[in-house]
Amino acid sequence: MIPIHSVTSDEYPEQTCNSTNSQENRPDKPEEACGVFGLYAPEQDVAKLTYFGLYALQHRGQESAGIATFEGTKVHLHKDMGLVSQVFNESILEELPGNLAVGHTRYSTTGSSRRVNAQPAVVETRLGSIALAHNGNLVNTMQLREELLQSNFNLVTTTDSEMIAFAIAEAVNAGADWLDGAIQAFHRCQGAFSLVIATPVGVMGTRDPNGIRPLVIGTVGSNPVRYVLSSETCGLDIIGAEYLRDVEPGELVWITEEGLASYHWSQQPQRKLCIFEMIYFARPDSVMHNESLYSYRMRLGRQLAAESFVEADIVFGVPDSGIPAAIGFSQASGVSYGEGLIKNRYVGRTFIQPTQNMRESGIRMKLNPLKDVLAGKRVVIVDDSIVRGTTSRKLVKALRDAGAAEVHMRISSPPVTHPCFYGIDTDTQDQLIAATKSVAEIAQQLEVNSLAYLSWEGMLTATREDTNSFCSACFTGDYPIAIPEQVKRSKLILEKVVV
Ligand code: SF4
Repeated sequence: MIPIHSVTSDEYPEQTCNSTNSQENRPDKPEEACGVFGLYAPEQDVAKLTYFGLYALQHRGQESAGIATFEGTKVHLHKDMGLVSQVFNESILEELPGNLAVGHTRYSTTGSSRRVNAQPAVVETRLGSIALAHNGNLVNTMQLREELLQSNFNLVTTTDSEMIAFAIAEAVNAGADWLDGAIQAFHRCQGAFSLVIATPVGVMGTRDPNGIRPLVIGTVGSNPVRYVLSSETCGLDIIGAEYLRDVEPGELVWITEEGLASYHWSQQPQRKLCIFEMIYFARPDSVMHNESLYSYRMRLGRQLAAESFVEADIVFGVPDSGIPAAIGFSQASGVSYGEGLIKNRYVGRTFIQPTQNMRESGIRMKLNPLKDVLAGKRVVIVDDSIVRGTTSRKLVKALRDAGAAEVHMRISSPPVTHPCFYGIDTDTQDQLIAATKSVAEIAQQLEVNSLAYLSWEGMLTATREDTNSFCSACFTGDYPIAIPEQVKRSKLILEKVVV
């Protein structure tokens, strides 16, 4: 066996960046894991197109970003902590020539937020290097890690993504070609994985057999047509690529000079797309199931109004993710739509702790209530979800301080009662307000006049798809992929886990 090591390097000291993960500084929302992007297009500036693809996918992860390009067998890699626009500039992109590229933007769900864990993960093999970008989370990481350590792999990072790259390398070094090596590795992985993998000869894309995380195929150019992979269609739109279709659950697409080839490697594929992608994570202008998520989210709002109408003077959404549902609520209920909260669009996640006074004053670094709009009004405020409830409580207080006479909260998804193990950071179960409190108790804690969530049936029916074709485990605890007991114990703190 040839020695294998991961190309990390040099410029990536193992510096922790824990401030982003402290409870104090964390947004009160589930956080997306990653965005992935890749393309084969020798006629184009692949690094620049990948940069813009990642730029459009920035909402999927804001901790680190990276691009790897292949110039024949030579790999050019740049990755670092920060937003896409902070990690790259023109001169860095000029140092990334090549025929094909993969890119990644990351929020850490496995492995801490450190430079060394930034992706793509680059690993050497008998046939040359691979660069792998992963969206999702494996549930058998411990087992895979043990197996790879026993095979004397020098695991450099703490991510499951690097382990997938090593599993491919192990198969390739044992004699498999790229496709067989990748498929052998995918069979060793359990959990959620949408992958984009660059090799010296082409780019692969795959989704796990449940298709938990999205991955779409687009085309660029006409003579010849070239293929692009992106977590969402907004990554295609930004570079002028045309949406072709989704990568299917358990499918491997192989994009080379010859075009696109498809292989179905799973015996039991099923559709279990994360419903939270539809409700909140993915951008509203991204298309899933042949329509924009903006349209789906408006329907959620209409359904919410049908299920939990309330007399009010104005309805508005928590910017930005609550806005489409608030518009739908207004359309169905007849309550006037307006703007009651203005978002500071230029704030990102801050590394500077606010002063105690600022913290107590609430949420106003990001959202500021419009006093003259709210004074004396009966207000309906629509949000896409409540996780811990800390931000919602501050928001309600800010609306009351601004003069709202009544505050009615409407949520365009059911109560989040279970943690996610498939690549979304939803805290441990004991941190989820709806895991321990009834809706009435939550309403009391948030100090609202009324609170209502959308029903689980309403959320799924509004998709206009087969309601069995989604994962909705964080609302039900019905996990579509079995989770090892040891992993369950780490998050299902309120439930008796049988070992
Ligand atoms: S558990 Fe929830 S957040 Fe996780 S994949 Fe399923 S629906 Fe999505």
